[in-house]
Amino acid sequence: MKRRDFINKAGIGAISVGTALSIPGTAKAASKFKWKMVTAWPKNFPGLGTNANLLAKMINEMSGGRIKVKVYGAGELVPAFEVFDAVSGGTAEMGHSGAYYWKGKSEASQFFSAVPFGLTAQEMNAWLYYGGGWDLWKKLYKPFGIIPAATGNSGVQMAGWFNREINTLDDLKGLKMRIPGLGGEVLRRVGGTTVNMPGGELFTSLQSGALDATEWVGPYNDLAFGFYKVAKYYYYPGWHEPGSTIEALINEKAFNELPKDLQQIVLAACKAANIDMVSEYTARNNQALNTLVNKHKVKVLPLPDEVLKKLKQISDEVVKEMADKDPLHQEIYQSVSQFRSQVMKWSNISEQAFLRAREL
Ligand code: CA
Repeated sequence: MKRRDFINKAGIGAISVGTALSIPGTAKAASKFKWKMVTAWPKNFPGLGTNANLLAKMINEMSGGRIKVKVYGAGELVPAFEVFDAVSGGTAEMGHSGAYYWKGKSEASQFFSAVPFGLTAQEMNAWLYYGGGWDLWKKLYKPFGIIPAATGNSGVQMAGWFNREINTLDDLKGLKMRIPGLGGEVLRRVGGTTVNMPGGELFTSLQSGALDATEWVGPYNDLAFGFYKVAKYYYYPGWHEPGSTIEALINEKAFNELPKDLQQIVLAACKAANIDMVSEYTARNNQALNTLVNKHKVKVLPLPDEVLKKLKQISDEVVKEMADKDPLHQEIYQSVSQFRSQVMKWSNISEQAFLRAREL
């Protein structure tokens, strides 16, 4: 009893000494914050899981250890598709995922990951940071107590791996393809059958014939899965995911408890991770494409214009129908579609004109 008394008193004493020594106003700044980051990817998954690691590392180091973020792979703390709820409910202070996974919460979440025939990575960042997109995203997640931030972008993805040639729209009829989200709905409307399954099951499903085709990401991630061994044709462009944004989810209450400098560190780290991912994908896709073509003799083919035109027409219908369901959906849709029609004029005479000129 006496010993415990002594420890208690010593403990109280230690606290009061600490308080006495601290300069008023700096107590919050000196606090240590231990955060959990739950992710929708396997731990260390190339490009996506490694971006979560990088984001955590930057926050830890930029804050001088005042925030310690620990990363959890999918299934370690919560399953991949429960990341949003975990951050909303405070089980984790941060999440790392793709907004289109949360279409069950709000279909409009898809505007903040990828829309078929939507924005490229550069245009998406332009809309988010300078076109009002980020504010709308915050508005959408506000009722869930979550602050979103872009933390990565895959760049233009590939249309996918096919076990048959696609020459006309008829070739899409009856095609069994793994293609999630709005792109999947578009494929269904041209007569395809869509299946959603985790990445780990795609290889065997293509091999057994359970699938005729699958999209995944691009050469870097697709090479790692070995799809070239089980599907002959690799089609482009990724009309359904022209620049998929990866998101950081931040629990609003936890964010508000941070002093201003740490809040800025968290947001700045997200921006830095965002540019890091698109740079990494550009570099590694280019290396992997070279391996696929020259080493594995993969046939890389463009989807015919006739097919792309039809897919675009249906995509625009699908997105508009989704927007008509709810006033906030409509507000986001108006913002992003106005931005797209304007930025297309600029992109046409800048990126597109230059890329064409470089080929001459
Ligand atoms: Ca994809």
